[in-house]
Amino acid sequence: MEGVDVEFEGMEGFHKLKSLWRIEYEAKTLEPILTQAATEETKEIVDSVLGKTIPKDLPDAVPLIFEGKSVITGNSVKGVFRHIISSQLREAGVPICFQKVKYGSAAPEQTQCPPDKPCFVCTWFGTPSRQGALYFSMLRSHEPLEKVLAGDPIPMIAVRDDYRAIEARAFLLLAPLKENVKFHGVIDGENLSSEIIGAIKEVHDISGRGFVKFGGFKTRGFGAVKIEILKVEKYGTVPFNLEKEYSGDDLKSFLEECQRKYHDLMSRGRRA
Ligand SMILES: [Zn+2]
Repeated sequence: MEGVDVEFEGMEGFHKLKSLWRIEYEAKTLEPILTQAATEETKEIVDSVLGKTIPKDLPDAVPLIFEGKSVITGNSVKGVFRHIISSQLREAGVPICFQKVKYGSAAPEQTQCPPDKPCFVCTWFGTPSRQGALYFSMLRSHEPLEKVLAGDPIPMIAVRDDYRAIEARAFLLLAPLKENVKFHGVIDGENLSSEIIGAIKEVHDISGRGFVKFGGFKTRGFGAVKIEILKVEKYGTVPFNLEKEYSGDDLKSFLEECQRKYHDLMSRGRRA
């Protein structure tokens, strides 16, 4: 992390609950997507839904399933948002720490923010030792698995990076979800600033052109989703009450205003 400071709007902290937020959104697959369930049971379910003989006992990679719907975990969605916002702000010159990486050598620079002065991303997304202010729900498909699974498994030659678990086997059969599958989810937040809501709007815009990808096999043309923010609710806390509901034109201008604040933050980074 560079030494230069770029001020951003802080958070009230966990000792004070000033506002609660709910951002409802839809994610639509623009490409086939594979969320990679790990269990044999899920592979068997997918195999029986496919209902055809495939040249293997079971497909090698199948989507995650929960209560008959295809799902994307909140944690993986959070990771995608965190990655995009972090790398964009870093490029803009706003100091953002690097999280510890699982593979390879040490991260290029500082891996942890000082606890008393977290960076923009750690403030909102949290750190391994401190909870953040954003909660990403599990995304669930509107329709049951039978309706969203691609009809034919896709054969593929494995490259190690794509699929670490089965390095030894070169030939893979993938059973992804189709294009145009719609998922629904929410992002809940505490004491959100205009800047972080603007950052979420920015990811929404980036996704519109297919640059936001979920799941595995991203380099093989899988995983692009288009995010559409449907509604934002702001709740007051003393007492708890729905203060404002943004939808339609109201939502559009609110999100654009927040995005301007986020763009201002990036401009301050460039000047620092
Ligand atoms: Zn940080």
